[in-house]
Amino acid sequence: MNKFGFNIATTRSINLDSANLSKSAALQELVPSYRYCIGCGACSATCSAASMTDFNIRQVHFKFSRGQYDGLVDELNKCMLCGKCVLVCPRGVNTRALIINMRKLLEE
Ligand code: SF4
Ligand code: SF4
Repeated sequence: MNKFGFNIATTRSINLDSANLSKSAALQELVPSYRYCIGCGACSATCSAASMTDFNIRQVHFKFSRGQYDGLVDELNKCMLCGKCVLVCPRGVNTRALIINMRKLLEE
């Protein structure tokens, strides 16, 4: 029940030791720049799809790297592969290639 204008967040923990990180490891092989992400969010801030939908490439990227693959296929289908995110990434992460390969790996 919400009596004070806010809700207590549900505890959320991720045990990386028991997570299935096989697809994440495969993605690092396919797109080596994947590992250089510092989570700055510039890709999300400039994303064309985010201006029209609730798509968040940074969040999708993080979920994938933690083995949380549920629902990511539908999320990734919101991306139109315009490539704007690649242009603004300060770490040179090829986010467009990340998206294409995340889609492929999730189909396997
Ligand atoms: S802009 Fe690049 S470094 Fe920043 S969150 Fe996106 S992929 Fe990571
Ligand atoms: S390629 Fe996809 S994630 Fe990147 S800016 Fe375009 S719509 Fe957004």
